[in-house]
Amino acid sequence: MAEPLYRRVLLKVSGEALMGDREFGIDIDTVERIAKEVKAATELGVEVCMVVGGGNIFRGLSMAENGMERASADYMGMLATIMNALAVQNSLEKIGADTRVMSAIEMQSICEPYIRRRAIRHLEKGRIVIFAGGTGNPFFTTDTGAALRAAEMGCEALFKGTQVDGIYSADPKKDPNAERFEEITYKEILSKDLQVMDQAAVSLTRENKIPIVVFSLKDGIVGALTGQGKFTTVVNG
Ligand code: UDP
Repeated sequence: MAEPLYRRVLLKVSGEALMGDREFGIDIDTVERIAKEVKAATELGVEVCMVVGGGNIFRGLSMAENGMERASADYMGMLATIMNALAVQNSLEKIGADTRVMSAIEMQSICEPYIRRRAIRHLEKGRIVIFAGGTGNPFFTTDTGAALRAAEMGCEALFKGTQVDGIYSADPKKDPNAERFEEITYKEILSKDLQVMDQAAVSLTRENKIPIVVFSLKDGIVGALTGQGKFTTVVNG
């Protein structure tokens, strides 16, 4: 079997990726498919932690646009990420994976609080750690939470699962001439104004020299982890 390119990675899965074909909420079959992939990644000997988004349930910004105070709306968004994290944990444990949910917002009866050293210990023991609650602060996103946790955990790469198999010069669903990049630098992302992750997340990964691997969740993470199939790697330079 092909060797993994990284020993410890963080996987960011947006809330929308958990919806499957639904318009809202969680599609259990989709979550189970992602869980199988994540377990397969750990079976390659890779330590995996995850950050899940919340956009399938609640987005602070859209509620704030409807008149709600932004900080309160964002707290609701963070709570949504905890719901998703529990769904992912449930699917992982059903197939025998050892997991821990750690939340940036304490919620003692349902998950552990986020403690960096403890999280590292879980990873070393082969547990899949699911980080919930984003950064724990309003006005941020789970992409930034993912970049932050990847840096804190000393991850060698941040894997971002999307609907397409990498970063394109234009939206491949709208433009048939859109080109996929094999590798791209942070500088090019900024100069071409490509929407990969928000600015705060990009600066954090760039400063900490953590490559971002953008791959299709349909193709699965194992191919991208072993350097097979199509994906885009964002590197410094
Ligand atoms: N959120 C926040 N701080 C964080 C992470 C998330 O306030 O550090 C809130 C914010 O309201 C956001 C919502 O949680 O809209 C869901 O997260 P996000 O939009 O990043 O989820 P995704 O797009 O990945 O599904």
